[in-house]
Amino acid sequence: MNLIKRLFGGGDTPAADTAIHLYVRCNRCNAPVHVRIDPRNDLVMEYGEDEEATGYRLIKEIMDSRCFRLIRAEIEYDRNRRELQRQIEGGTYISKEQYDQLLAQQETERTAKT
Ligand SMILES: [Zn+2]
Repeated sequence: MNLIKRLFGGGDTPAADTAIHLYVRCNRCNAPVHVRIDPRNDLVMEYGEDEEATGYRLIKEIMDSRCFRLIRAEIEYDRNRRELQRQIEGGTYISKEQYDQLLAQQETERTAKT
């Protein structure tokens, strides 16, 4: 029964989430920002001198919701979409854990003020 279910139910399994999740913190106001990036739309293919694809580049402008300053993130990938290097202007890359922490911290600050 399980096999049949798997055979016929395969169609409704959602496609793997290929999205890239970026967590950054604004350098000015410390606000944490999460952006979900769709590689199909946001990754730009790069070509070398021999016109062969060498990898991908992602350039994303992120705005936090506190001071609205623009943070510019740039990440380079190889042809297999493995990350090579990342740069950021106006902000700092943080982990998801740090993001959650900052968010919780913000929440506490907000409730403390009122
Ligand atoms: Zn900010």
